[in-house]
Amino acid sequence: MLHTAKELLEEARKKHYAVPGFNCVADIMIRGILDRVEKLRSPVFLMLYPNDMDEKTWWYFPAIVRAAAERCTIPIVMHLDHATDIDVIRESLDNGFTSVMYDGSSLTFDKNVEMTRKTVEIAKPYGATVEAELGLVGGFGAEGGEVASILSQPKDVVTFIERTGIDSLAVSIGNAHGVYRQLPQLDISLLKELNAASSVPLVLHGGSGTPTDQIRAAVENGICKFNVYADCRVALWNRFKQLATELKSPDPSPNAYIVPLQQAIGDMVEEKVTLAGACGRA
Ligand SMILES: [Zn+2]
Repeated sequence: MLHTAKELLEEARKKHYAVPGFNCVADIMIRGILDRVEKLRSPVFLMLYPNDMDEKTWWYFPAIVRAAAERCTIPIVMHLDHATDIDVIRESLDNGFTSVMYDGSSLTFDKNVEMTRKTVEIAKPYGATVEAELGLVGGFGAEGGEVASILSQPKDVVTFIERTGIDSLAVSIGNAHGVYRQLPQLDISLLKELNAASSVPLVLHGGSGTPTDQIRAAVENGICKFNVYADCRVALWNRFKQLATELKSPDPSPNAYIVPLQQAIGDMVEEKVTLAGACGRA
């Protein structure tokens, strides 16, 4: 069934594992992810990024996730990723999202506090949880364009959490969005300081392409959720290209390519869930 982030992440923090979050844009991704996490008995975040939405996505995505969640026996969080617009947040909550991220990373500290606080107030009556970002996780978006990162500062953590009332905090510790042009070097000692200062569970964005030893170290030292999008795109696209050459029929059955695409997503999901230590936690 659908859950909020709070209950799942607090449990993960206590037991030193992370709950993986995957961005989805189509039902084959939702199905590929859910089939595998259910088999692995892992909780999961299904995330939707506003830039991937069109008008229909507002009812289509939550309707599929809710229908799937009713049949699934693992906890699922329906999460809005990187929202910068309060109206988008309101709309997602009206459509049943159980968790939202307000991304004020490009704002000044005070403005980030103000807008994040506002999001928390809006989300409260819905019983939804709020993730926010301190510092700035840069990198490459799915739409291209490079943004430089700004590391999170431990001295800001306590004030930010107290003034906003958030449930989880995304940190910038050398991680970046998109496909890494060179291998990242996560600053684990900074993460330890941030985690010691934080009363809420920490989140790692840009989990794709990060060497496994670094993800493990991050999870051991306080990361309770890690986000994966680029690896979803890569898994789908690579399999898609193979299938285009393998399938010789001019009109193959849709399942001849949809099922392998779901499996390709599933294999990537299994890697991440195992890395997060989330198998068997549901
Ligand atoms: Zn992100």
